[in-house]
Amino acid sequence: MNVITTINEMQAELLKQKSQGKSVGFVPTMGFLHEGHLTLLRQARKENDIVVLSIFVNPLQFGPKEDFSTYPRDFERDRALAECEKADYLFFPSVEEMYPTEPSVSVVVKDRTDVLCGKSRPGHFDGVATVITKLFNIMMPSRAYFGKKDAQQVAVIEGLISDFNFPVELIPVDIVREEDGLAKSSRNVNLLPHEREQAVILYKSLQAAKEEIIMGERNPARLISFIKEMITNQSDGEVDYVDIYSYPNLKPLEKIKGRIIIALAVKFSKVRLIDNLILDID
Ligand code: AMP
Repeated sequence: MNVITTINEMQAELLKQKSQGKSVGFVPTMGFLHEGHLTLLRQARKENDIVVLSIFVNPLQFGPKEDFSTYPRDFERDRALAECEKADYLFFPSVEEMYPTEPSVSVVVKDRTDVLCGKSRPGHFDGVATVITKLFNIMMPSRAYFGKKDAQQVAVIEGLISDFNFPVELIPVDIVREEDGLAKSSRNVNLLPHEREQAVILYKSLQAAKEEIIMGERNPARLISFIKEMITNQSDGEVDYVDIYSYPNLKPLEKIKGRIIIALAVKFSKVRLIDNLILDID
């Protein structure tokens, strides 16, 4: 595996590979890799000639009061894991390499950002769309792999690819979970031990809501209250949001019908966790 830290070298390497007719699978991450990331890498490995992993904790997508400085990092461990998964290239640029000057052009996401994480993290998806635009231009991937854990991000990237005509196929990958159901996340290490035990309530409340829907509940407001109550009663976490929308358009629903997303975010003492469930309802 080749570790590359400069944009010029990364672009030149991939231009060379593409000129030989090779397909490129790209997995963008912020590192501190876990099974979720490795699942994306494995799928990319199966479907492409060349696999590129990027590790970049993108300051643009963190708000001023968010966890940019405490976001977990361990490059040597990540490098060993990427090597095990047979990635061909690991792109690991510095912040200065990615943003050498104050940007003169930025990408602003207009649709689907007034809800969920877009609402509680203003500017977050502009930062995501800006870095992904740069990374797509650097990698020129055939396919890009994104986890459904960040379902709103998948929807925003779908819009970015379509609006800006990137010749990239977006491949959404199912959420990978711990044995007790908690969605794997780099941030889980920042949970206190009792919070880690309580955090399973995110998954449990989504499953309980699904049961309610199976039993016939079709009222979004009642389901949202039901989930909020479960989380509040069974953890110290503070609910940031629980919402139900159509997916991937993220429009409000009067009645549960069609493809829907139940999404939630809960703040613990040092970390905010997200989870979701996408369902198809007749
Ligand atoms: P991150 O490093 O958190 O920016 O995540 C990089 C990519 O991995 C994103 O596309 C995430 O959606 C995906 N990802 C993170 N956690 C999981 C998970 N538990 N299951 C599936 N994909 C995940």
